[in-house]
Amino acid sequence: MTTQYKNLINGELVDNGKWIDVVNPATEQVIGQVPDCGQADLDKAVAAARAAFQTWKKTSVEERRALFAKMADVIKANSDELMRLLTSEQGKPHMQAGSEIAGCVGMTRALPMLNLEEKITEDSDKRLSRTRRVPVGVVGGIVPWNFPVLMAIQKIVPALLSGCTMVLKPSPFTPLATLRLAELVAGVFPPGVLNIITGGDALGPLLTSHPDIDKITFTGSTATGKRVMESASKDLKRITLELGGNDAAIVLPDADVSKVAEKLFWASFYNAGQVCIAAKRIYIHEDIYDELSGAIAAYAKVVKVGDGAEQGTAIGPIQNKPQYKRVLELIQDAKDKGYKFLAGGDHDPSIPGYFVPVTVLDNPPEDARIVAEEQFGPVMPLMKFSTINEVISRANASDYGLAGSIWTSNPEAAVEVAEQLETGTVWINESMHLAPNAPFAGHKQSGFGAELGEEGLLEFTYPQVITIAREAA
Ligand code: NAD
Repeated sequence: MTTQYKNLINGELVDNGKWIDVVNPATEQVIGQVPDCGQADLDKAVAAARAAFQTWKKTSVEERRALFAKMADVIKANSDELMRLLTSEQGKPHMQAGSEIAGCVGMTRALPMLNLEEKITEDSDKRLSRTRRVPVGVVGGIVPWNFPVLMAIQKIVPALLSGCTMVLKPSPFTPLATLRLAELVAGVFPPGVLNIITGGDALGPLLTSHPDIDKITFTGSTATGKRVMESASKDLKRITLELGGNDAAIVLPDADVSKVAEKLFWASFYNAGQVCIAAKRIYIHEDIYDELSGAIAAYAKVVKVGDGAEQGTAIGPIQNKPQYKRVLELIQDAKDKGYKFLAGGDHDPSIPGYFVPVTVLDNPPEDARIVAEEQFGPVMPLMKFSTINEVISRANASDYGLAGSIWTSNPEAAVEVAEQLETGTVWINESMHLAPNAPFAGHKQSGFGAELGEEGLLEFTYPQVITIAREAA
């Protein structure tokens, strides 16, 4: 029988008798079922979070930190099981699933060390005025399918640390490891502080329009982010949006091809390219274009694509069928337009699983769909550039502004290029590094507000100024 995973509402593991199937993208087999929640279930979760907020907001930061330490221990102790479950529902190879779970342990330990200190804003003969931060209330968290557990942790920890309570909704494509985590930490927090509920397409809009939710923290596509913002505007809910990206990687002419080829490959193909901050447009200086594109294409041909649970697999399947079809459509478009392929492109539909071959395109034009759109799959367009000014303006010619990277043997000089990129993060000679104490904030249509760092924590709070006149009334 298929394993049925329960939701966490008010400290109890529950279901409503209605179920959604969850599929392993490598085999297309159903591997579990999760509750299909509607308005009534959501109302219960929100009521539990509201009731718990009254006491949770009064707990000290030290008390909360002690519970996060327990939570981190529980995740660590169950890492192997969570890692395997994550591979089976998400598709990523065991090694990458293990890194995601280790990242969850790390974030659960590091994020609670952030401080929101009160500030004295006036201390004069006339008055003493201080600004404190108070929690916004009940937070609705919405999570995507690419890093389902880590994205959940990056919402849960700062929300609860700030004194908020939460109702979290995983993606219906990848809810299993998150619900197993819910089961593991059910006893860690007081009932109602953390609620995790699952549902189909209808549940997200119910959450964003719920009158008793004060804030939405959302990670997902820009298109859905716009719908979230519109829905949340009805009662002016606070929002944080972490959205899509079309990150440019810029390889300067002085880059060492032998060092950069593999790093660039993984900047693009980690998690089968399903990373918001993957390098999605690769601009290579014309002096080294042929050498570097040849090295990347050669590497692409030896990397093993397969079931993430099999030893040796470096790249798993696309996580779900709609996204699989979209990536194949982009490859077909590139074929129809006559763009040149350096690797991949041919796909065998008779093999079960949502597998897409590692595909590298040779200098498609700037208006090609594969360049202009976020591909979110294992397809890498390599483009040639001649001058720095030209590549900066090409990199910035996007509605997205999530991150970007520069590859060079002169990193100090590259800072000047980095400062001209219109993105929230720029890496020089690395990629995808996010730190718990640094804000991650998409510019332009890649986001609204910030996650991580003190800035991320502030998003779960309101400022409150309390002023005492020196002269008694
Ligand atoms: P998505 O927008 O389709 O779904 C994200 C979540 O929103 C899911 O839980 C989904 O069920 C829910 N949802 C769907 N419609 C909704 C609605 N109308 N109202 C409220 N919730 C709704 O995104 P996805 O396909 O799961 O994830 C891929 C996208 O996420 C990519 O664009 C990627 O770049 C982006 N992403 C961004 C970050 C970041 O931090 N910036 C991180 C990871 C992924």
